[in-house]
Amino acid sequence: MPETLTPIISSRKVRGRVYVDRNRCKGCGFCIEFCPPKVLSFSASFNEHGYHSPELVRPEGCTGCDLCGLYCPDFAIFAVREPRPVPSAERGASET
Ligand code: SF4
Ligand code: SF4
Repeated sequence: MPETLTPIISSRKVRGRVYVDRNRCKGCGFCIEFCPPKVLSFSASFNEHGYHSPELVRPEGCTGCDLCGLYCPDFAIFAVREPRPVPSAERGASET
């Protein structure tokens, strides 16, 4: 790969954080269906309209790709990428 094509974001150094506006959700399940690593699932509880909204069941697997947000017809979910905390052992190694 040419040096000019280095990735901007390393998946190892970021994680996804998902935000759900539960009461906007209509329970269609698109976000769950189209999430590539399948880290979303319906919550057991109902929102104020009687729908099951999604929840992140495997947070460690979320990449923050925001496909869930792109597919949601009701703008009830979106995701962001944020830096993953570096474990202290790894931090020490990189500082030497
Ligand atoms: S941001 Fe991507 S990986 Fe995370 S829950 Fe949404 S679709 Fe799945
Ligand atoms: S795509 Fe949107 S409306 Fe459908 S289940 Fe997911 S959050 Fe709810």
